[in-house]
Amino acid sequence: MNLIVVDLEWNSASRSQNIDHDLASLMRFEIIELGAVRLKEDLSLGKSFHRYVTPVLYKKIHHHIAVVTKRTQQSLQEGVLFTHMVDEIIPYAGKNPVFASWGTADADVFISNCQFHEIASDFQFRALNAQAVFSGIAEGICSREQRSVEYALDFLRLPKDLPFHEAITDAIYTARILSRTLELELADRPSETAASLLRPYIFDPYLTRQSESVVTLEQGADMMAFLETYAFTCPACGTRLEVVPIDTGGHWYTVNPGKRWFAVAACEKHGDIEITVRKARRSKVPRYTIRTLIPDRPLKIPSLHEEKSSLVWIDPDA
Ligand SMILES: [Zn+2]
Repeated sequence: MNLIVVDLEWNSASRSQNIDHDLASLMRFEIIELGAVRLKEDLSLGKSFHRYVTPVLYKKIHHHIAVVTKRTQQSLQEGVLFTHMVDEIIPYAGKNPVFASWGTADADVFISNCQFHEIASDFQFRALNAQAVFSGIAEGICSREQRSVEYALDFLRLPKDLPFHEAITDAIYTARILSRTLELELADRPSETAASLLRPYIFDPYLTRQSESVVTLEQGADMMAFLETYAFTCPACGTRLEVVPIDTGGHWYTVNPGKRWFAVAACEKHGDIEITVRKARRSKVPRYTIRTLIPDRPLKIPSLHEEKSSLVWIDPDA
């Protein structure tokens, strides 16, 4: 697998600069820095790539971004154009790259910047959410709680010897986290490979992976009857979905009685799809949000009483 760990820093609209609304809606976040490092087959870190990018839309640095990234207004001029950076990263990344990053935002921002600059769609990549890999494999949970890079470094007892919030060092940190997570797992499961462990986490970032709709039912309506007959569709292609039956009969797991239900469906083209139905709070009429999602991690059936876990890792040996 051709795995490149990527981290982006981006700028956004600031009050001091008037931007055309239509233009801004095409690109909410503009990349000002990209750092990348290859994670080799043997899980060691390979060649890195780093560029500052000069913004063409949000030319004034947003004060919050300046604080976090320690970038100055002046430094925004010291980069290359985005199109130039892409021309350079294509040969660096090589064939069929998988871009791994912490969370899913980087892939979305990268794609929106490519679209804004009308970069030909023949450059495509697949994506991997390193945060989901860390939670799923190292922590052994499928929670969608956001773990920070720092949390994962502490959990895995990795050194914090580099600055945070710089694209290249954050990419190196993320690569180290992936590497250690896979190393530990492979020690326990020698029949697996890094590629086989990562496969369920790779997704196509160009797809619309999630869709939500709201339905209102009549007071006292039979929820199960409604769920069994509703026409769920794939968020990516709109195909009508077949909901997968469960062992206990029917198709639906009740996660929270009267409030939350879960089912798994399959699209022929896009694989497993999670369906979650939630009752709206503070609504006089029975109103429900239906969410269909192509997951970026292995499927997990939510349990009835999922524990809320801590956002800070407490070292048991400390
Ligand atoms: Zn589909």
